[in-house]
Amino acid sequence: MSTIGGAGGDYDSKEEWTEFEWLEDALSIIENIEEQSYQIHPSIKQEEEEDGDGGDGSFSAEFYRCGTDWSCLSPAAEVVEPSHSRNLKQANLWQMWGQNKPSSLSSPPPKKKLKPTQFCSQGKAASSSPKHNRPRACPFYKRIPDTGFSVDAFRYGPIPGCSAYFLTHFHYDHYGGLTKGWSHGPIYCTPLTARLLTICLSLNSLYIHPLELDTEYVIQGVKVTLLEANHCPGAALLHFRLPTGLCYLHTGDFRASKLMQAHPLLANNRVNVLYLDTTYCNPKYKFPSKEDVLSYVVRVTKSSLKKQPKTLVVVGAYSIGKESVYLAISKALGVKIYANNSRRRILQSFGWPDLSTNLCTKAIDTCLHVLPISSLRYETLKDYLKNHVNQYAAVLAFRPTGWTYSEGLGRELDLIRPSTRGNITIYGVPYSEHSSFTELRDFVEFLKPDKIIPTVNVGNPDNRDKMQSYFREWLKG
Ligand SMILES: [Zn+2]
Repeated sequence: MSTIGGAGGDYDSKEEWTEFEWLEDALSIIENIEEQSYQIHPSIKQEEEEDGDGGDGSFSAEFYRCGTDWSCLSPAAEVVEPSHSRNLKQANLWQMWGQNKPSSLSSPPPKKKLKPTQFCSQGKAASSSPKHNRPRACPFYKRIPDTGFSVDAFRYGPIPGCSAYFLTHFHYDHYGGLTKGWSHGPIYCTPLTARLLTICLSLNSLYIHPLELDTEYVIQGVKVTLLEANHCPGAALLHFRLPTGLCYLHTGDFRASKLMQAHPLLANNRVNVLYLDTTYCNPKYKFPSKEDVLSYVVRVTKSSLKKQPKTLVVVGAYSIGKESVYLAISKALGVKIYANNSRRRILQSFGWPDLSTNLCTKAIDTCLHVLPISSLRYETLKDYLKNHVNQYAAVLAFRPTGWTYSEGLGRELDLIRPSTRGNITIYGVPYSEHSSFTELRDFVEFLKPDKIIPTVNVGNPDNRDKMQSYFREWLKG
């Protein structure tokens, strides 16, 4: 593709649609890799073999040895009553624990319903791969034992025994499989994620059950609380307390922090099983804090503008996530943020006044533009600059992702060397919305769960063994 923009205006174009398809396909592939050989139930053994499982069984055997009863993984679990008959009870946990809820954990007010758009895939990518024509069995780590609950498991069709489908956040590798015609059961998620399901996927609202953060609900006899995940907008950790007293925490995708440790539900209660986002569970990922990366980005932007005042600043972003990067630049420079119509609709649905009031509708009105992260390539940016040649002489672009982190960098952000070609400069900055290795370690050492189930990078037995050895180390003492 040659260009992503029309001259000077919105570029709600076919090209951008294609960019997102590309991203979603990539995420879909990652998810499939993650799931390889991580299934342990006999009924899905055939799937394991087809996916090239090592077949050593050591990983599953380890879980069985560890003492928690996994018998609920049997396929014939009873179907529980659907959600409309559920018993919902609410309580503010911060109040219960006599603490003030930190303002940073406040959830945004609900926004008015918005029209569906073509910004998202409508399940397109899910149906594009032949693999998706035949739903796979739901892997065990997406089921909550002794409940009718599944987590981020929408691509398996109706799951036997599943009567409540939880969605941790609105990233494709988690909601993949959800389409307009979804009718397999109630979906529980945060109010923000619920709005995105309506806006992007036109889901039937009868199936969507928004749950406020930090509020305890009783669903099918299980106490359920959603906690801020410090990932993308609307992302939540899922905390389940069963009538037996057993407690499960599913992190979805998250970035662990000290503030999270202070949450009364985590600070005062034992977690028996932790389903952990292990995206960066490798000691080489000791990337800097988000705050440090943000101030670095602002520093670089200011100094670039000093050298070349006619610089167009571009931030790459997924459909949701990385908002803080362009918000930080916007605040530091006192400039508005340009995003195309589709992205603006999504961003406005967050109900964040800081963001909504700083968005502008015309590219010509600001030097700060947000583009799909996949478009941060020389050729694309060169074409983009051509569309704004009367205003700008150079492009400074930021690609914010933990994958850009390299071991040699440590926390020395000033060692980052941008890629420059002509008047296009691209900085890869290690701004991550997943936990670094050290943050994972601190979180696990704090939580001390009985058992940890990694949910990412589990396709390779060596990876799993390595992660298990880290977990054993962290849980000592
Ligand atoms: Zn995510």
